[in-house]
Amino acid sequence: MIYVPSRMGQFNRRALLRRLQRLGVASRAELAKSLGMSQPTAGKIVDELLAIRVLEEIEPLETAGAESVARGRPGRQLRLNQSQSRLLAVQLGLLETTVAGLSLGAADADVWQVSFLLGRNEPNPAKAWEKQLRRAAAKIGGSNLLGVLLSVPGLVDDAQNRILFSPNIHWTEKADLAAIVRSVWEVPVLLVQEERALALGHHAANPDCDNFLLVDFGEGVGGAVILDGKPLANSLPISGEIGHTPVLGNQRRCGCGATGCMETLVSLRGLLESFSQDQRGQKTSWTELQEYIFKHGLPLWLAKSLEAAAVAIAGALNVIGLRRVVITGTLTELPPVVMAHLAQAVQNGSMWAKFGTVECVPAPRRRTAGLVAIGIDRLVVPDAKENEFSPKISRRQQVALKPKS
Ligand SMILES: [Zn+2]
Repeated sequence: MIYVPSRMGQFNRRALLRRLQRLGVASRAELAKSLGMSQPTAGKIVDELLAIRVLEEIEPLETAGAESVARGRPGRQLRLNQSQSRLLAVQLGLLETTVAGLSLGAADADVWQVSFLLGRNEPNPAKAWEKQLRRAAAKIGGSNLLGVLLSVPGLVDDAQNRILFSPNIHWTEKADLAAIVRSVWEVPVLLVQEERALALGHHAANPDCDNFLLVDFGEGVGGAVILDGKPLANSLPISGEIGHTPVLGNQRRCGCGATGCMETLVSLRGLLESFSQDQRGQKTSWTELQEYIFKHGLPLWLAKSLEAAAVAIAGALNVIGLRRVVITGTLTELPPVVMAHLAQAVQNGSMWAKFGTVECVPAPRRRTAGLVAIGIDRLVVPDAKENEFSPKISRRQQVALKPKS
């Protein structure tokens, strides 16, 4: 028999899953109590979710055992299914794509199982990507999947499940990536904007940290805002595009078509380009940059680039009213003096600092944990009307968002 829950049922299901995600492990009674649900209601939802293997039961811990027995209810503990990969994550980068099976209980830093590279001058990148993806699928398998979550850079139109604009990977604007992935695994596929996944992942691992701006430095520079534990509600897919803030005097051309964007200075490529210029045009590598900073401290060009990034970050904090910045990606791999300089510059530019401290802290990328959170929300308990993680855009806004040709 297929159970089709009512809208209220869906709401309760989602609330229970989110609570369990936060608690890690809980009994039926604890879940009912903390959610203010009746025990029969919570118990019924738990049984349904156990039947479809979204939850699993584990033996009570020894320490908790005595208490449970004392209460006369040797209740079994529940958790999100950690024993099987029920979701698959695919992360599309500039050249590298990585794939991993995900259990619903995933909250650790990212671990990718398979990766492949796309040639820089590939004549038909979409076709080549599909071919490589099939090879990856043969290695990684994937049966019993609830769906695939595809993390992508650029502007994502959630309603159409497509990429509107991608400054660094233009071929993805024309390709129907979801259809390609679906042809490989034959399950539902969701495109997820990559910084949104990172921000939700950070929140999943740090539930008490529920108001922050996350800025990720990598092939590009992008941000996402979490307010009261949820992505900043916005009916437009353009948000967090902090890397495309122009920096006065910067003449570098950006993949978005503009000149002087901040990311041309502090993306991986931007940093290496500046380092190479500073080394009189010598070819340089990331490891050499790390070693250089360890040995000589912060070079002037890097200090200036970090200050330019900090101006954009502080501007965002001042507008939204946030006092916590989480930095992920390449900058966190450089010697600590780099993060310290960035944090100080952010502090200098933000109003909150006049009344206290502004936190600017490094954190690991937890993209997969964020993808799991979205997967639970949209694939395990799908209901477009209550979907908080992906605001829809109207038809009028879609027309307005067609990139200029
Ligand atoms: Zn740009």
